[in-house]
Amino acid sequence: MIRLTKIGKNKFLLPKTGNMRVDAVVYLSEKLFRDFQEGEALEQLKNAATLPGVYGVVIGMPDIHSGFGLPIGGVMATRVEDGVISAGGVGMDINCGVRLLSTSIPADELDKRFLRKLMDAIEDRIPTGIGKGSRHGNLYKSHFKEIVQRGAIKLIEMGYGREEDLECIEENGCLDGADIAAVSDEAVSRGNQLATLGGGNHFIDLGVVEDIYNEKLAEVFGLKKGTLSIMIHTGSRGFGHQICTDYTRIMVNTAPRYGIDLPDKGLACVPISSAEGRQYYKAMCCGVNFAFANRQLITYDVREAFREVFNRDDDELGLDLVYDVAHNIAKFETHFNRRLLIHRKGATRALPPGHPSNPKKYMETGHPAIIPGSMGTASYVVVGTELARETFFSINHGAGRVLSRGAARKEISQQEFESAMADILYNTRNYKKVLDEAPQAYKDIDEVVNTLSEIGITRKIAKLRPLGVIKG
Ligand code: 5GP
Ligand code: MN
Ligand code: MN
Repeated sequence: MIRLTKIGKNKFLLPKTGNMRVDAVVYLSEKLFRDFQEGEALEQLKNAATLPGVYGVVIGMPDIHSGFGLPIGGVMATRVEDGVISAGGVGMDINCGVRLLSTSIPADELDKRFLRKLMDAIEDRIPTGIGKGSRHGNLYKSHFKEIVQRGAIKLIEMGYGREEDLECIEENGCLDGADIAAVSDEAVSRGNQLATLGGGNHFIDLGVVEDIYNEKLAEVFGLKKGTLSIMIHTGSRGFGHQICTDYTRIMVNTAPRYGIDLPDKGLACVPISSAEGRQYYKAMCCGVNFAFANRQLITYDVREAFREVFNRDDDELGLDLVYDVAHNIAKFETHFNRRLLIHRKGATRALPPGHPSNPKKYMETGHPAIIPGSMGTASYVVVGTELARETFFSINHGAGRVLSRGAARKEISQQEFESAMADILYNTRNYKKVLDEAPQAYKDIDEVVNTLSEIGITRKIAKLRPLGVIKG
């Protein structure tokens, strides 16, 4: 059993032992620490700490749980000169992320029937579940290369959104460096899932802004108490999954050639500067841009559904993009005066006020960072602070699982599920289909969010409560 040593409020150390090159740090409140059962995730942090060129500390966020290679809720920085890039350190769902839209619609204007109508209009347009095709098939057929190389920029040019959306997407909707030549034919063939939500954990939530903790920042973010909000969670679908699979295989095969002793197949990696490393980065950027495009197209469809159901136009409805954050990504960033590759796997970037990588609109506040909770509990909007420097300006990406899908299906009864959902609407008529996504399958979001806000790494801005949830 790995022991964590408390080194400060809500902060625990996994000291360097064996062939670890750096320490690992895990952020947990006292309560999360007492309930902590993630031995495997700690092993994975230790493994990450053995990789060549790893820099600073390897970090576990309060929503940490074990994943493929690096844990979900994991952050790993590697030095550009002599460090590695890992496909598993980014994750299968490249640029899985969350986007939040605000509206001018008072949530109490909506009764259950109207809300259901809204959800149906959204579902009519956006396929849910695994392996479903898209209504925007023409984009896949005619513009795929440009979409994966130019992301949301290409879509805005084609009219699928507003000019001002771009500023409210991490990397302005396009991560530079994408080259479709680095992507396999098999991955491209799975790109036909553009504009689909995907299975299980992905969702479109209609919620209400329930609490504001900082009036000034909430106003800049366009969040007003009592108004309806829309959260979209999806990623790069089969396309990104295939890229991760392809490059994990390549990295497993080539790592020994670079003298890398892999602690775990899921952490397969190669030097950033190697031919394979550069190829993966180009392919990953394609996956990242696909996911930005995916969330942009879904936004386009959601806006259309709202116009139809309300019979009002965008000016009246709002439907403004608050922000779009990636939570499975590797990016070149400067920290501590060094160029680093920051792998965020189930972790969200959160820049403080004044950081030059903020968009102009949010330069003085820091960009909004979005933390979903579960289909039956709250979600949060926060910002990072200067203290987040120690996490490479990264925070948790959600509540994190406490129960595996299998355990959730076994342990949660229909009555427990229904009482947790109370009067929140959800798309499937059969509760069994979403039992593995039950609120009880996730950690306590308040506890998780407070873990970082209590020590000043984040500031809470707003709390959202779900009203109706469309699950993938
Ligand atoms: P992941 O990307 O790791 O699958 O999920 C991110 C986070 O989203 C989870 O850790 C969980 O806290 C949150 N989440 C899962 N399902 C829902 C949902 O239906 N609605 C909201 N608001 N959050 C969810
Ligand atoms: Mn995902
Ligand atoms: Mn995700």
